[in-house]
Amino acid sequence: MTSSTKRTCGDCTLCCKVMAIEALDKPAGSWCRHCKPGLGCAIYAERPAECEDFACLWLANDLLDEPWKPSRSKLVVTTSDDGLEIRCEPGSPNAWRREPYAADIRAWAAEGKRDDMTVLVIIGQRVILVAPDREFDLGVVGPDERIVRELEGTKVVGATVVKDTD
Ligand code: SF4
Ligand code: SF4
Repeated sequence: MTSSTKRTCGDCTLCCKVMAIEALDKPAGSWCRHCKPGLGCAIYAERPAECEDFACLWLANDLLDEPWKPSRSKLVVTTSDDGLEIRCEPGSPNAWRREPYAADIRAWAAEGKRDDMTVLVIIGQRVILVAPDREFDLGVVGPDERIVRELEGTKVVGATVVKDTD
């Protein structure tokens, strides 16, 4: 993991559970076989490039304050091509509904409406699209699928999952 802040991962290893690691064929939501939870990576010097290059937003950006530390919040925040993704520790699927996290997520969704940014909560492979005034629980979204939003102006009024043919 890399950081442009003075923060360090410390006792946190949550990305080694919630993220999928293609090079290891590791699915999202289960511990990497090389992880010593709370301690670190047993193959740190030889870890895949996607692990080496990864930094969650709490580690990389001081804008997320201390309560957002993933080992405390049970939430790993990352940027995506079109917005933000908040991955829950599968054992705490409602972590994102607790405060102060829920209020921040609602605020990001409101900003997203203005800036055409998508805010997704991801629990394992289940995806919830968060709009300022409602949620769209999309169920399991596979790696070969993508989310299509239905807009009325800037308001999200619907969301569906389609095969990604690109
Ligand atoms: S989730 Fe963030 S803080 Fe935790 S180990 Fe991964 S990069 Fe470090
Ligand atoms: S290889 Fe190491 S850094 Fe990468 S997911 Fe596994 S434990 Fe984490």
